[in-house]
Amino acid sequence: MTGTTAPVRIRSGIRFDSVSVAYGGNTVLDALDLNVEPGEVMALLGPSGSGKTTALRAVAGFVRPAAGRVFIGDRDVTDVPPHRRGIGMVVQQYALFPHMRVKDNVAFGLKARKTPKREIPGRVAEALELTGMAAYAERHPRELSGGQQQRVAIARALAIRPDVLLLDEPLSALDAQLRSGMLGELARLHRELPDVSILYVTHDQVEALTLADRIAVMDQARLWDCGTPQELYRRPRTHFTASFVGNANLLPVRVVAGGVSFAGTDLAVATDRAAPGADATLCVRPHLVGLGEGPNALRGTLSEVQWRGATHRLYVDVAGHRVKADLRELRDPPELGAEVTLHFAPEDAVLLGAGVSDA
Ligand code: ADP
Repeated sequence: MTGTTAPVRIRSGIRFDSVSVAYGGNTVLDALDLNVEPGEVMALLGPSGSGKTTALRAVAGFVRPAAGRVFIGDRDVTDVPPHRRGIGMVVQQYALFPHMRVKDNVAFGLKARKTPKREIPGRVAEALELTGMAAYAERHPRELSGGQQQRVAIARALAIRPDVLLLDEPLSALDAQLRSGMLGELARLHRELPDVSILYVTHDQVEALTLADRIAVMDQARLWDCGTPQELYRRPRTHFTASFVGNANLLPVRVVAGGVSFAGTDLAVATDRAAPGADATLCVRPHLVGLGEGPNALRGTLSEVQWRGATHRLYVDVAGHRVKADLRELRDPPELGAEVTLHFAPEDAVLLGAGVSDA
């Protein structure tokens, strides 16, 4: 946002203060507590039906919480109508007006908010410039590709100079290649608008890992975990996070002195305050599992090999458990049915459950 007409921006974050939403007595968002810092990109990540869109709609003002308050900056907006919340929103299906030209679609929110007429063309041009759509101002939506339509939808959301941008699965209607291009575009947009706080709903972990400063992991109406992508990937706190963010081996283990026991084999891993004898889950990322002898060796039978371009994915049956290993630079994988040994470093395993987390 450059130019002499830009007002001084007051940076606002978003705060959910114990927000619950119910439909017909069915709780679909359960006492959500979450802070999005000013200028932060927060991804709400979770499977379909976990309550992500409901949380976003509570910020937009399209659903009313049964309990709790929603704040934008210092302002309690729980009872404020949507168009007075200073929010830009983009949904999956673009929702452009088909009979309006691009420039009129982008001007729509400004007119609805009674922006002075003389300011509108400049604001529309600014938003189209930001999204790389300046050359398309006179077109109708049907004359644009899906990716271009989504850029117009983003321009429309930005034209009102929102403090908060709400994005609801904005890339899911695009094909894979466009999606990856648009991911880069969104990252660039955020660099150009560093004061805008973004709440980004997605079920796609790649989008969340790529774009977000922090990820809030949701399942079954509840928040399970919140942290930077690196924290959630390296140190997941819950079984659900470990399985939903990145790939994981989740091995059922029992805590013993100095480590855990898995399928009759003692493994040296940090157990923190876990009580000996407790049942727990050991999370080991497949790319941190090596082939051959090493610390924490697991012996088993090779049951499947998948070639994935940069890596081979090996599935090894260890006493009835399927352990995955992603290996780079493996020229000749062992024969199927061969006895193989896998290993991992003690520091590459995370113990979940057993009173050391809430998994
Ligand atoms: P997500 O965005 O994670 O896919 P939603 O927030 O859209 O999940 O939905 C959460 C739950 O609320 C789902 O079970 C969904 O069916 C239900 N739900 C969403 N909107 C409504 C509605 N308007 N009326 C009744 N149930 C709804």
